[in-house]
Amino acid sequence: MLLRSALLSLRPGAHRLLRCASMSTATGTFQLQQPLNYRAGARVQPLDGNHSEELYEPATGRVIGKCLFSGEKEVDLAVQSAQAAFKVWSQKSGMERGNALWEAASLIRERREEIATVETINNGKSIFEALVDVDISWQSLQYFAGLAGCLAGQHIQLPGGSFAYTRREPLGVCVGIGAWNYPFQIACWKSAPALACGNAMVFKPSPCTPISSVLLAEIYSQAGLPSGLFNVVQGGAATGQFLCQHPSVSKVSFTGSVSTGIKIMEMASKGVKPVTLELGGKSPLLVFSDCVLENAVKGALMANFLTQGEVCSNGTRVFVQRDILHAFTKEVVNQTQKIKIGDPLLGDTRMGALINRPHLEKVLSFVTQAKEQGAEVLCGGDLYVPDDPKLKDGFYMSPCILGNCEDNMTCVKEEIFGPVMSILSFDTEEEALGRANDTCFGLAGGVFTRDLQRAHRVVAGLQAGTCFVNNYNIIPVELPFGGYKMSGFGRENGTAAIAYYSQLKTVYVEMGDVESVF
Ligand code: NAD
Repeated sequence: MLLRSALLSLRPGAHRLLRCASMSTATGTFQLQQPLNYRAGARVQPLDGNHSEELYEPATGRVIGKCLFSGEKEVDLAVQSAQAAFKVWSQKSGMERGNALWEAASLIRERREEIATVETINNGKSIFEALVDVDISWQSLQYFAGLAGCLAGQHIQLPGGSFAYTRREPLGVCVGIGAWNYPFQIACWKSAPALACGNAMVFKPSPCTPISSVLLAEIYSQAGLPSGLFNVVQGGAATGQFLCQHPSVSKVSFTGSVSTGIKIMEMASKGVKPVTLELGGKSPLLVFSDCVLENAVKGALMANFLTQGEVCSNGTRVFVQRDILHAFTKEVVNQTQKIKIGDPLLGDTRMGALINRPHLEKVLSFVTQAKEQGAEVLCGGDLYVPDDPKLKDGFYMSPCILGNCEDNMTCVKEEIFGPVMSILSFDTEEEALGRANDTCFGLAGGVFTRDLQRAHRVVAGLQAGTCFVNNYNIIPVELPFGGYKMSGFGRENGTAAIAYYSQLKTVYVEMGDVESVF
């Protein structure tokens, strides 16, 4: 997922606050103390489960605690707790639900620095970006708080004074399963529309980043939402399966890889449960020679290097029209080399550490493979060791730009999920569009051009759920977000999300006598 909104939302004076945050919770001191499951309004240890995994601070490589994986009994208790809360919550008016969500949004705002700091410690992304993520998170709660009171059905007049109406009703207990790249934001993007519509939720974050969604659970309780309305169970694939297969679960909303998304869909199909799938991507960015070059370069950086490149909507296939290829490449390399990598808790760092060592090694191996297949490393692509000794075991790499790329190379075809941009050249619009669409993914796409007609023609032709004209990865909560093709289906955010967390009941009302056909 993405730089979800304008970076401008960072408040004036935030840099001062960031420095305070980094000093008081300096990398190297944080240790997890409390249980990470949240059930019936309290933090709890899981009742069962026989597996645990160590949790890391990516910036230092330090172990900061343990994540205990939940078993079937714990999952069942969490679902029961959600069912009980659903009975109360679903009877409230939209306005009442909206008020509670608005209160929760205010509490997130108050704890903005604390939540962002925890996110940075557990995920490795820069505090600069983590703060933006938290802002987008409370905005999501505010947005759906506003919509909650507007949810309504239709009135349809029929012959003879009879009529019908529709009711927009909640689904029941919804399950949210999240990825590790935007832990707090994903929990908010799923829970805000779900709760606004009157549902309850059991959320399972990624076992790599389990900490911040429990803060959200505490905030919901503090805001006065019923105990058990939002529960957190920790675990990996097995815990996720217990959730998806639970007979009392009405819907699964999943963010993660295509391969897991397929399994989720298979499990949900057994219970005929609706699913929302927010999956991976390998999105194209088309840079035409009539663009504002400086903007296109900035856009390419935004499309590739936010959250260390671990962003589903990233435009990692950068198609550049041949006559500006040299100028564009020179400038994008120049700007990439200036990106400040290092301690993510420092306010001026723009690239922190990747999520864990195996993932870092995987991303570096994509670079090695790209070289073997004939790509040229124009900058970066190496292990990076910051000067600060406490960061020496962190999971850093330098942002990489690959030139001489061809459509059939692995780096151009597969999602790398790291800071690796592939540059490709093209001659005509038709050719670029055909090559851009030649992928099984369809999450996002972008175009840089000064030609208005071309811009709209190209985005109309792109097979992708979200398209950007003359910018990239700007995704405010008012806009629906989701994929085409194997990048998934269903939408998060915007009014569109309501349809995926509610069901429509039609009520026919007879005003005359029954005229039987028998
Ligand atoms: P992943 O698929 O490995 O895991 C995602 C979640 O699914 C985790 O919570 C994991 O524990 C759980 N899980 C794994 N196997 C499961 C199973 N069999 N049943 C139920 N749950 C299971 O993905 P990841 O590595 O955490 O995240 C990276 C991927 O997520 C990338 O492909 C990225 O593009 C995608 N992503 C997509 C979006 C989007 O909005 N489209 C946003 C963020 C990340």
